[in-house]
Amino acid sequence: MELIFKALEAVRRYPLCDSCLGRLFALMGYGIENRERGQAIKTILHMAAVSDYRKGKDVTADLIALAKCHLPTRRFLAGVGIRVDEEKCYICGDLMEGVEKYAEMAVEQLRGLDFVSFAVGSTLPEELLEKEAEVVRSLLVTTGESVKHEVNRRIGKELLRRLSDKRVDKLRPNVVVNVDLVSGQVKVVRNPILIGGRYLKLGRKIAQAKRFGNVRTTLLEKLAYLRDTFGGEDHVIHVSGREDSDARMLGSGRPLVVEVKQPLRYTAQVAPFRDKDVIFLPVGFTDRNEVRRLKEKAKTDIKLYRVLVLSESPLKQDDLSKLSALSGATVTQYTPRRIKRLHPRKKRVRMVYDVAWRLVSPHVFELYIRCQGGLYIKEFVHGDGGRTAPNVAELLNTRLEVLELDVLYIE
Ligand SMILES: [Zn+2]
Repeated sequence: MELIFKALEAVRRYPLCDSCLGRLFALMGYGIENRERGQAIKTILHMAAVSDYRKGKDVTADLIALAKCHLPTRRFLAGVGIRVDEEKCYICGDLMEGVEKYAEMAVEQLRGLDFVSFAVGSTLPEELLEKEAEVVRSLLVTTGESVKHEVNRRIGKELLRRLSDKRVDKLRPNVVVNVDLVSGQVKVVRNPILIGGRYLKLGRKIAQAKRFGNVRTTLLEKLAYLRDTFGGEDHVIHVSGREDSDARMLGSGRPLVVEVKQPLRYTAQVAPFRDKDVIFLPVGFTDRNEVRRLKEKAKTDIKLYRVLVLSESPLKQDDLSKLSALSGATVTQYTPRRIKRLHPRKKRVRMVYDVAWRLVSPHVFELYIRCQGGLYIKEFVHGDGGRTAPNVAELLNTRLEVLELDVLYIE
């Protein structure tokens, strides 16, 4: 049997603990722990060698090699007057013995955390990994499991035994138990919770995240209740595009993801939010891919705006009909003066699909603009000193000022 020849060759070259020997043949058999596999292999090697020895064959060298990592063989040799000292495992230095104790340390640190799923990660001494690779290479073993895999698996198994209501989730675990076998420390990482939803801004002077100027409050502040729901240390928001702080966000709202960092609870219910300024409608838990998708989507979204405009010159219905020329226009915009310091002179080209209007009084009119996401609406109206072309002010041959801006709908 090739397995036995290979195992004998392994023991002749290196003293190996039960786990490390068994692991070389991990892919053989089913439902047996490496430790048990290694023990069984050593028992068979022991029986074969002792029986050969009794038949008078010269297997002393093999017996001595095995004795370095096998107590019954040491005892047998002692009985025939050969003393052999036990040696540490060549690969792990006996580190594999009782790695389950780290599960116990982890349970201690997980106390008080309300979570559902976990994963185990580990850091192993570089030397150990090198020696494992050396043994696998020199014996041409193809049936092994990596030591890291065994460590993670065994600690995970022990954790499941101790925390029977939890489950392992390698892709999206609530918490990750990081075991450092170099320092002997266990660290629990609490992964963030991502909540997807949509928000509406019913009031003005509300920024997304940072307070500045005359801003009254922020969306981020309004959503702090989610941080508290999950007992998080902090929260951030990821929004699909943005509107000015003085623009309302109406219609069916704008998609966003709220990220709660380092939560203490993973099972709480997400409640919607509503006050006179902001509505937040949660959709469900989500992941990083959704955040990426959200940011990409903002570039191609079609948006419908309402703008209330003040005109310096009095206007008549006929003047406004000139605006039909803007339906289907391709608009070129250089970075607006108001944000120029953030992004130096960059050119942006966006489509305006439809423009509609309503004269409110000789100096005030309402404008509806359906356009590609990313168009600077205020600049499209007042022209930004010619930095946006074509623009509404130029077409009407007057100075214009934006009084109100609302996002009515994001398609
Ligand atoms: Zn070992």
